[in-house]
Amino acid sequence: MSRSKTFFTAGPAELYPRFEEFLQDFVDQQLGSISHRSQQFKDIYQHTDEQLRELMNIPAENAIMFTGTASEIWERIVLNCTELETFHLVNGSFSKKFYQYADSLGRHAHKLEKPMGEGFSYAEIEVPEFAELICVTQNETSTGVQTREPDINKLKRGNSSKLVAVDMVSSAPIPEIDFSLVDTAFFSVQKSFGLPAGLGVWIANETCLAKSEELAAKGSIGAHHCLPDLWKQSRAYQTPATPNVMGIYLLGRVAEDMNKRGIDNLRKETDAKVNKLYKYFEKKEGFSLGVEKPEHRSRTVAVINTERPSAEIINALKVKNLIVGAGYGPKKESQIRIANFIANTPEQIDALIAAFDELF
Ligand SMILES: *Cc1c(COP(=O)(O)O)cnc(C)c1O
Repeated sequence: MSRSKTFFTAGPAELYPRFEEFLQDFVDQQLGSISHRSQQFKDIYQHTDEQLRELMNIPAENAIMFTGTASEIWERIVLNCTELETFHLVNGSFSKKFYQYADSLGRHAHKLEKPMGEGFSYAEIEVPEFAELICVTQNETSTGVQTREPDINKLKRGNSSKLVAVDMVSSAPIPEIDFSLVDTAFFSVQKSFGLPAGLGVWIANETCLAKSEELAAKGSIGAHHCLPDLWKQSRAYQTPATPNVMGIYLLGRVAEDMNKRGIDNLRKETDAKVNKLYKYFEKKEGFSLGVEKPEHRSRTVAVINTERPSAEIINALKVKNLIVGAGYGPKKESQIRIANFIANTPEQIDALIAAFDELF
């Protein structure tokens, strides 16, 4: 089966190259009808769990749990891992939403905010004394800004009594998160895993679990998908409610295929593709890079400033079946966003650059 369009959108995004084959296997085995309490389902969960542990170097101590979306996990983390105060590094729309969730849930939410297009380095971050949780968006999808792994690690080492949460929704499994330091991290599957939306993946350690149990003994941590329940069920490859079996199955197949290709190879390929894009748009007349500092430029979502209205560019590419995203929020008309996910092959990136050469 061939696809007529190529999506460079930052999520939902281009589907993983073998998606249709994995979906057909799901249909052929009638997995949409099995009980989520069956051994067959437990085997599917276990397979996905094992493949993700291998791919992302997740220790046995951590639980891997499934939710509806990544934004659901923002709420779960605030409810289950904090009582009073949170601290957020905000540099775009998604990191701001995480902050707003904490605020809406009645926490004293602190933030360190940067203008769009700028990133954070460890040395400039001062964490409020009583914050229980530090929230970092590893890849800010709205602006194409990344926080580098060494800065995240230093943040934890410098604040070892606080929990550190990493939103890696639009970059997982590319960043090398050190799960012996980071307490919790999460993603959803419609970004760099190349799957249809509707599944959140929550990774947490025993310190998060202990905190949620301590909070539950004092008051409410919410009813839906609370951490002690999710954790206990996950240890038996089970879920509290009926899960997205199809999403969990497909994620396992995709992660298995990524493991066969090798995560180091995928990281190298990702960097080669994104460097090609940045090099091209740095020199291209009428375009410039959205993120000034090279070390803060995302590896998975390239944001490009455009002199002409972004809609003109997007529409011209659309005629060629190349689908590129607009800028986010206030940057809608002056930027384009190009996803450089694992599903976007080197050939697709070359074809996109060739189209820019021809059209603009
Ligand atoms: C897309 C995105 C989210 C939200 O994911 P959902 O699956 O839509 O809930 C959160 N954070 C970042 C950085 C994202 O890119």
